[in-house]
Amino acid sequence: MASSLAIAGGVGASTAFMAWAVRGRSSAVFGPSRWRGRRDRAAIALTFDDGPSETTPAILEILAQYGIPATFFQCGANVERLPEIARAVRTAGHEIGNHTHTHAMLCLRAPEFIENELRRAQEAIAIHTGALPAWFRAPFGVRWFGVGAAQRRLGLAGVMWTVIGYDWTLKAEAVARRLDTRVSNGAILCLHDGRELRSRPDAGVTVEAVRRVAPMLLERGYQFETVSRLLCPTN
Ligand SMILES: [Zn+2]
Repeated sequence: MASSLAIAGGVGASTAFMAWAVRGRSSAVFGPSRWRGRRDRAAIALTFDDGPSETTPAILEILAQYGIPATFFQCGANVERLPEIARAVRTAGHEIGNHTHTHAMLCLRAPEFIENELRRAQEAIAIHTGALPAWFRAPFGVRWFGVGAAQRRLGLAGVMWTVIGYDWTLKAEAVARRLDTRVSNGAILCLHDGRELRSRPDAGVTVEAVRRVAPMLLERGYQFETVSRLLCPTN
């Protein structure tokens, strides 16, 4: 009886461990990954996933208005669909990261599939924007065997987030409130300027959330930095 309980406990613990390893924002089990910057500087990073999309220019406009640099984790397929918008992100001085080519769920995939997803995105971004990403963010935050090796071969480092905005499901004021109440020194905030590979996604909530939260966070004394700057402040 005691031993079967111990076994059951072991299975439960290992299932919980795997769930954290695959999806936990602080997990680096499947490759080096960062999820926040230093706590002794009032600096934060605003990040956007799933772009570029038709919504991206509206976000660029707000960021320009406040002089805020951000980091955009682009999908290669979206870059190929909207190369001029992808390029405009770079031209505006923002950092570009890799968010795979097709926004694939990497869980249970072969290492070759995973590396191909990262490599195709890296190539599309380099060809169309001239930027070579240094950071990789896994779609859905899901990492798997092979991500670490693919990152290493492509010169990428993994990055998750400190606070996620749920801008694909909440209303703009709730997203802004969520970011404003959970932000802290070194926080990496995650929003979405696209919706996976959708064409003309309805990302109005994200635009409105940025419009609300940018002045709120500036007012509180936070300095916005790109992910590279936040995580490697000597750069
Ligand atoms: Zn995504």
